[in-house]
Amino acid sequence: MKRHTTRQTVRKERLLCDYPEQERLAAQFAESKHPLLQNPRAPEQPFPHLSEVELVRHYHRLAKSNYSWDDGLYPLGSCTMKYNPLINEHVAADARLHGMHPMLPPEFLQPVLHIIWETEDMLRRLLDLPAVTVQPAAGAHGELIGVLMIRQYFLSRGEKRTTIIIPESAHGTNPASAAMAGFQTAKVRSRPDGLLDREELQKLLSPEVAALMLTNPNTLGIFETEIKEIKQELDRVGALLYIDGANLNALVGKISFSAMGADLTQLNLHKTFSTPHGGGGPGQGALGCSERMLPFLPLGQIRPRNPNDLSLGFEFYDPPQSIGRVKAYYGQFGNILRAWAFLKSWGSNIHRIAETAVLNANYLRQKLQGILTLAAPSPSMHEVVFSQDGLSKRGLTTANLAKALLDFGFYAPTVYFPLNVNGAIMIEPTETEPKEELDLFIEAICAICSEPEKYRAGAQETFVTQIDEVSAARNPQLSWLGS
Ligand SMILES: *Cc1c(COP(=O)(O)O)cnc(C)c1O
Repeated sequence: MKRHTTRQTVRKERLLCDYPEQERLAAQFAESKHPLLQNPRAPEQPFPHLSEVELVRHYHRLAKSNYSWDDGLYPLGSCTMKYNPLINEHVAADARLHGMHPMLPPEFLQPVLHIIWETEDMLRRLLDLPAVTVQPAAGAHGELIGVLMIRQYFLSRGEKRTTIIIPESAHGTNPASAAMAGFQTAKVRSRPDGLLDREELQKLLSPEVAALMLTNPNTLGIFETEIKEIKQELDRVGALLYIDGANLNALVGKISFSAMGADLTQLNLHKTFSTPHGGGGPGQGALGCSERMLPFLPLGQIRPRNPNDLSLGFEFYDPPQSIGRVKAYYGQFGNILRAWAFLKSWGSNIHRIAETAVLNANYLRQKLQGILTLAAPSPSMHEVVFSQDGLSKRGLTTANLAKALLDFGFYAPTVYFPLNVNGAIMIEPTETEPKEELDLFIEAICAICSEPEKYRAGAQETFVTQIDEVSAARNPQLSWLGS
């Protein structure tokens, strides 16, 4: 069954200035003498002359040509696209907080400092680490701060270590962050079961290695069960363990990062804790660290003046061997507020996020593994990855499936990532999807696979159908003119 989509009825929308110059029937506010009805702008400005209804319809049609949360599932794996409760927007818009000027002295900013500290404290407890800072502006920024702290840690010990080891199943930002902090990277393979190949890791370990940057659950959606053994091997050469925690949706409230031996771990609040995601941001990161990394945290951390009496207020402090400043003022405070509201509203039930996210991913896995080919046999956490192999037998490609899903009124899953899976299809349903929505998605995939010849040509019913992806990337047309 195809879901009804209103997008398909949207015709190509012209620009407002392309409407023909002609007389239109509209209320003429300038005719009225009443001050409330005066047009505040000079009438001679060259604005297009449109009636109110034309203007409203123009913007409404543009809005409808988008896919949004209000339309349905975003199965993008690795991205943790989930519904952000609207109530958090009200909290973030609270005029008593969002209008505060960041240059006010700390005495006047106590509510802001309290909320930032409380958000960090809730995350610290969730991760079970000695400290968390919400200064990072995004996940990759958290990685960069973490890797700079690793560099500072070894410098403080008079050691110059050159290399960070990164598994092939890592997110692409990991090697980029390591390189930006001046490290070389060495790649370690995954085993056929999807876990890090420990024998390979052992071969790479030496006193030159500063750290392993490991994503857990990894990019195949699999939990690295041998994390304790990995930690012991790193300890033997004095290397640190960085855990990329962007996939926390599978683990929230369920696991101790201290027990896993993490020295550093970044979170993506725009993935797990309901701050806005997509559309160009701004995102929001957080970085947690172990006891031995505390002296290197960025400048301007927040703490209670007296930990036994929060009513005495909060103050800034500078860690003694800090890497320096990493952002202006208080960071993305509106996003910190949204995360704070989300954490407060879940309270002690927060582990249900992980339970439901894992259940939903495994429901899709069970229902789809007869049609698509699983990328790895190990159990799934928050996402399930398939290869193109099952589709190829039907004469379909991963791209065909992704485009055809658009005709069924769904956003496409993440495709062709991770790179170590042939034509990967990576699906992350998250906990916010009800079973009915997942069933519609499964039905759509089954329908596409049962009539492959119909869907080989990609999407047919969308606003734009066959896109030449190579030209779109190589010769982007960045202006409306001439399109
Ligand atoms: C999303 C993600 C990142 C990058 O986060 P950004 O906020 O996009 O910078 C890093 N690692 C993993 C595993 C991710 O899923």
